[in-house]
Amino acid sequence: MKSELIDKFGRKHNYLRISLTDKCNFNCTYCNPNNHMSYSVKKSNLLTYEEILRMMHLFADNHGFNKFRFTGGEPFARKGLMDFFKNVKFLKDKFGFKTGITTNGSLLKGNCSGLFSAGIDNLNISLDSLNMENFNKITGKNYFQYVISAIDEAIEAGYTNIKINCVVIKNSNDNELVDFVNFAIAKNLNVRFIEYMPFGNNDWQNNGFVSYNEMFNFISNHFKLIPAKNNNNNVAKDFLIEGHNGVISFISSISQHFCGSCNRLRVSSDGKIRVCLFTNGNSELNIKEMFRDGYSDNDISDELIKLLNEKWEKHPGVTELRALKENNMFKIGG
Ligand code: SAM
Ligand code: SF4
Repeated sequence: MKSELIDKFGRKHNYLRISLTDKCNFNCTYCNPNNHMSYSVKKSNLLTYEEILRMMHLFADNHGFNKFRFTGGEPFARKGLMDFFKNVKFLKDKFGFKTGITTNGSLLKGNCSGLFSAGIDNLNISLDSLNMENFNKITGKNYFQYVISAIDEAIEAGYTNIKINCVVIKNSNDNELVDFVNFAIAKNLNVRFIEYMPFGNNDWQNNGFVSYNEMFNFISNHFKLIPAKNNNNNVAKDFLIEGHNGVISFISSISQHFCGSCNRLRVSSDGKIRVCLFTNGNSELNIKEMFRDGYSDNDISDELIKLLNEKWEKHPGVTELRALKENNMFKIGG
């Protein structure tokens, strides 16, 4: 290994989140409210699968990265994904890192056992409502049954650690918290309630925000939540549900940020490496251009070390975050 990626605040980085595409077949109100397809990344500007594999090799070999997650946009909107994952497995077998996918689940059906055999370790499936009508309202699409069947198929394929991501928004789905806990219990999986975050495009309003404390207190009126042992870099606060299966987690990015233990970098589908979800375009490194301009892996590593120096200690408050106009979750990769 060339060097560990440790920033000036002592945070060791060993986890890369890779956006495979900025395209998405959903228009979730909090993420992609105005279908952005017209300005999605051109095919020639996408990191190719070969470039992604080279990038993963570089991070694993030069910097000891031990975790990679594929996200988007909707990863399954990109063609050739299953073949790509077979190639990821060769790298995984060599370096022993963990892999995961974050998906809206709508295109997952029929692929779960293939993903399991390709060694994809975990699946995070986004689901914001257990009510079909409300699901359609939030996502703008009529895929509720597909997502529910995909969750069942993933369980059948052997996944025992599925996480369901649910962004909680007032007067949208905050009346479904108890239903989601019952869902976690019935399916024996991990439901993660995520605080609604402001991005340049999502018209975030304070009155739509539901904090971790509010969610926790509400659920505690119905279930006893027992803190589970968290690992240090876990962004989620995990709880067992007394007397039941399943796990409930809260991701409190806004009310109680977890920047102090951040171990992640991100890369957009057009190859821009970012040190934080919330940052501006000045603090990026275009790894795709460096690959295409013939830089060696070691040259790129030197630039990565410089980039990491620009990482801030913690992200600012919601007013500043809303002002980052080019910051869209589907572009950066959630
Ligand atoms: N399309 C895939 C999906 O929905 O799972 C992967 C990409 S999506 C951007 C990744 C995660 O980001 C999803 O779980 C989504 O709920 C979350 N997300 C998107 N916008 C958000 C926001 N404004 N606040 C909090 N979470 C958000
Ligand atoms: Fe698409 Fe995922 Fe964003 Fe929803 S959260 S619009 S599914 S990228």
